Amino acid sequence: MARNNGAMIYDNTRVDEIIPGDIVTLKTSGDTYRAKQLILCPGPWAKPMLNMLGLEVPLKVNQIHNII
Ligand SMILES: Cc1cc2nc3c(=O)[nH]c(=O)nc-3n(C[C@H](O)[C@H](O)[C@H](O)COP(=O)(O)OP(=O)(O)OC[C@H]3O[C@@H](n4cnc5c(N)ncnc54)[C@H](O)[C@@H]3O)c2cc1C
Repeated sequence: MARNNGAMIYDNTRVDEIIPGDIVTLKTSGDTYRAKQLILCPGPWAKPMLNMLGLEVPLKVNQIHNII
């Protein structure tokens, strides 16, 4: 659905640095990108990614096993 709406997907591309601003700069293992808006969805890696923005959020990843 994202692709159908113009999104481009870069596999195996690590986000190394996020520089906030009116135009957000995203430095990756491959290239540097600039965009008006950035949506982050790093799942369990939210804490290190938010740290890139100088945000210290008390998140902790837990593994829970459910037996059904
Ligand atoms: C074994 C297992 C079984 C699970 N079973 C279920 C289930 O049955 N039902 C359910 O609802 N959920 C299940 N989950 C949880 C499931 O993983 C999440 O619900 C779902 O994947 C969350 O999606 P997401 O897109 O938020 O995060 P994710 O799928 O974790 O995606 C986050 C992505 O961000 C990427 N990323 C992080 N940091 C960076 C970076 N610096 N640069 C570039 N990319 C980065 C990661 O590589 C990853 O691809 C399971 C998880 C595990 C491990």
